[in-house]
Amino acid sequence: MNVHDSERIAGLLESAGYVRADDEQSPDLVVFNTCAVRENADNRLYGNLGHLRPTKDAHPGMQIAVGGCLAQKDRGEIVKRAPWVDVVFGTHNVGSLPTLLERARHNQQAEVEILESLEVFPSTLPAKRESAYAGWVSISVGCNNTCTFCIVPSLRGKETDRRPGDILAEVRALVAEGVLEVTLLGQNVNSYGVEFGDRQAFGKLLRACGEIDGLERVRFTSPHPRDFTDDVIAAMAETPNVCHQLHMPLQSGSDAVLKAMRRSYRSGRYLDILRRVRESMPDAAITTDIIVGFPGETEDDFAATLDVVREARFASAFTFQYSIRPGTPAATMDGQVPKAVVQERYERLVALQDEISWQENRAIEGREVEVLVALGEGRKDDATGRLSGRARDGRLVHFTGADGIRPGDIVTTEVTYGAPHHLVADGPVRAHRRTAAGDAWAAGRTPTTPGVLLGMPGVGAPAAR
Ligand code: SF4
Repeated sequence: MNVHDSERIAGLLESAGYVRADDEQSPDLVVFNTCAVRENADNRLYGNLGHLRPTKDAHPGMQIAVGGCLAQKDRGEIVKRAPWVDVVFGTHNVGSLPTLLERARHNQQAEVEILESLEVFPSTLPAKRESAYAGWVSISVGCNNTCTFCIVPSLRGKETDRRPGDILAEVRALVAEGVLEVTLLGQNVNSYGVEFGDRQAFGKLLRACGEIDGLERVRFTSPHPRDFTDDVIAAMAETPNVCHQLHMPLQSGSDAVLKAMRRSYRSGRYLDILRRVRESMPDAAITTDIIVGFPGETEDDFAATLDVVREARFASAFTFQYSIRPGTPAATMDGQVPKAVVQERYERLVALQDEISWQENRAIEGREVEVLVALGEGRKDDATGRLSGRARDGRLVHFTGADGIRPGDIVTTEVTYGAPHHLVADGPVRAHRRTAAGDAWAAGRTPTTPGVLLGMPGVGAPAAR
């Protein structure tokens, strides 16, 4: 989500007249878009700001801005600790950045502006896209849940849903520029519609994406087991361009830990959702997030997580060691688990999941896969002479290419080897389709989506386009 926020910041600055500095240039402006969910975010920010100070001293007029979750949390503290910062802006007023930079320049002093609620839905701001073939589209921001390990609700606020017409207009704008794959983004996509009173809005949105010509792949993240309903499963199964990929955060397999996390589903319900998804889509690749060592987690609780992991047969999992996030309810809970215990459990979980991922990937050997060729997905591609991309189910595929294949094109190839974390296809490419996304990539074009304001009444002068 933060990466897409950065695209929006870039788009906003470009429409205010800024141009991207190339690598050799000393920039006139550096913007940090911070994420407080990550471990050690504070240390990294202040470390980076410290490193930048000599550059700023040597470059009069250079400005430094800090935005994102950490800015929302630390506010004026940032300019106290790093007085050479010019602008601090929060998660709710990204659109004010150009004005704040201007004001800081004019007044020759730091500007700190943090709002408590959303000023304008972020996707109504222009975005400079990084990819010619895949794009993110926000459907909601904020979250109405209160998971005790999570800082998001206090920094991003209550869920705000974007109108379906605005979302679809942005998707169409991306597709018109050649984009083939769209990922719908929200902290909890399954509660989408809660704000305008339509509990089935997310399934309907998926089906509406199915009507968009030229849109080949629709993904979404993240769903929440609490709100995941059968109409969404049906929409996924019945809408041909919706990928059979589901990232369903488990967090823990222990009902006691789920309760302490304030996650309102239990392991039985979670596994039941997976069963129903696979009944409708036997080829679905299901991935997850798991936290190890949440306060109070006993060996039995952890064993319950391993049991669910064995039964769920995830294609892959993002596994995290619990660590205290200041400002979250879990930070002050009794029963913090010693680091050595967390580490040992974590290693057992990773070993189990790696074994399952490997078995699942080996089961795909010999199968044909459709790959959307990507850039930067295969770090060893230069050495191996392969190209890389994603299969429809989200799996990473390294394949032996052929002349003329470009990022953004679609190829069909056969999996020759399933590795634990990727697939290899070393046979000949069976089909190669040149796409508008590939053309855009070859021409060095990435989409810029304007602020989309359909259906939202504006006041005063129309927004600059
Ligand atoms: S549902 Fe996700 S974003 Fe919302 S509080 Fe829980 S972990 Fe945080």
